[in-house]
Amino acid sequence: MATNNKMQQYYHEAKWWRPGKGSAIQCSLCPRFCNIFEDRTGFCGIRKNIAGRLYSLAYGRPVALHVDPIEKKPLAEFLPGTWTFSIGAFGCNLACSFCQNHHLSRGYYDDEKEQGAYYPPDKIISLATIEDCKSIAFTYNEPVIWAEYVIDIAKLAKDAGLSTVLVTNGYVTQDTASELFPLIDAANFDMKGFSEEFYGKMTGGKLAPILEAMKYYVSLGKHLEITNLVIPGKNDSDEMIDAFLGWTKENLGTDIPLHFSAYHPDYKYRESPRTPAQTLINIRDKAVSQGFRSVHLGNISLPAQVRKQESWTK
Ligand code: SF4
Repeated sequence: MATNNKMQQYYHEAKWWRPGKGSAIQCSLCPRFCNIFEDRTGFCGIRKNIAGRLYSLAYGRPVALHVDPIEKKPLAEFLPGTWTFSIGAFGCNLACSFCQNHHLSRGYYDDEKEQGAYYPPDKIISLATIEDCKSIAFTYNEPVIWAEYVIDIAKLAKDAGLSTVLVTNGYVTQDTASELFPLIDAANFDMKGFSEEFYGKMTGGKLAPILEAMKYYVSLGKHLEITNLVIPGKNDSDEMIDAFLGWTKENLGTDIPLHFSAYHPDYKYRESPRTPAQTLINIRDKAVSQGFRSVHLGNISLPAQVRKQESWTK
């Protein structure tokens, strides 16, 4: 009985799966399409095969709850000056060697322990309202891997007059995106580096599905901003930055606010130095010269004389 109660409380049946190879089931939430054997989790660590059915271990179990300025997401042009009720969980469907949030992305739920309180979607709405937030942000770790929870919260948020914000790597299948994205009001997509080689070596994922996800999101008429963490010697070449700006201009337009943020050595990849301020300023100038309307620099303290250059919005 105790097991059943625990199952009820902590295991929420997942969407987006089908029978897989042999006794495995296949998750189709993201482009990894993991084949998951019984009692195992997929690559992200939070979707588990229990007795031949797929469950989300993260549903109702956020491990980070904070009230943040919306600019911290970062979103420069969505409900500026307001607070957003921010929630995050464990797990990630990428494996960035330079992850700056690895305590969450590589964290996992231990079935043998009761981990934290249970937060059904209506409780998240109540907390956001009590805190006088104007939006709920799904953030900190990768929220698309707990899309069932995001969707249920987002549906209630509409009724409560709260906006919804997704801070995502965009590594998601069209099936999932078509259910998730229409419920999101504003998103920041984290574009890690503009080449398949970079994605393959540094994240274990692929760039192409992310570009498709961004195009689809914008086609819905939603507010999009894009962040690029700039890692010296890895994704800061003129060639890569030009390719990113060129693709964005052609496919999304120059109205999309861009954020270029500084890397610091963290997690497994520590070989590059911190991103110099001048590198970010040069990229900002390049983006502006190519017609981008709104360009922002993050994770960096600029000298007072150039601080006014931190953001550029026409
Ligand atoms: S969401 Fe997780 S389990 Fe599903 S395919 Fe992606 S990494 Fe695998």
